[in-house]
Amino acid sequence: MTYKFCSHCGERTITEIPNGDNRERTVCRSCDTVHYQNPKLIVGCIVENNDQILLCKRSIEPQLEKWTLPAGYMENSETTAQGALRETFEESGAVVKLHGAYRLFDLPTINQMYLLFRGKMISCPFLPTSESSEVRLFRQDQIPWDQIAFPVIVTTLQHYYNDTDKNIFSFENHVITLK
Ligand code: ZN
Repeated sequence: MTYKFCSHCGERTITEIPNGDNRERTVCRSCDTVHYQNPKLIVGCIVENNDQILLCKRSIEPQLEKWTLPAGYMENSETTAQGALRETFEESGAVVKLHGAYRLFDLPTINQMYLLFRGKMISCPFLPTSESSEVRLFRQDQIPWDQIAFPVIVTTLQHYYNDTDKNIFSFENHVITLK
């Protein structure tokens, strides 16, 4: 995505490789601002309750009505763990104690990274939220695999259940290449 107008001065921007740089940027010639764009970090959580995990049914686009783990964009001034707890609460109402970071997925083709934690559910009122029309606990044999919102969430759940079989949950970084 490129911005047509400068957020500093409002003049029209252009796309060019600035002096001393090696890739195209959105540049404002009027106030000499280079508008850098960098990957976004999405933080979220696998919320465990005994042999069940929490999934949220999306009430917003994209992937309306599909199920996902609670996750969303990290905000300024928060840690990754705080972001994961905040998103989990906003999307599911669940209060969670985090076990630690579980998976970091690089999605270079869509300029995103996902950092998923594992955590234990402390409480959850199971009320719909502004972002989820339904919040539910699922056992492994109940996971609606053909109704999961994003490929990265499918992969996370596959890794999670492989690790559940071994009862070893070490942190790993993987790359997912989407078209
Ligand atoms: Zn400008």
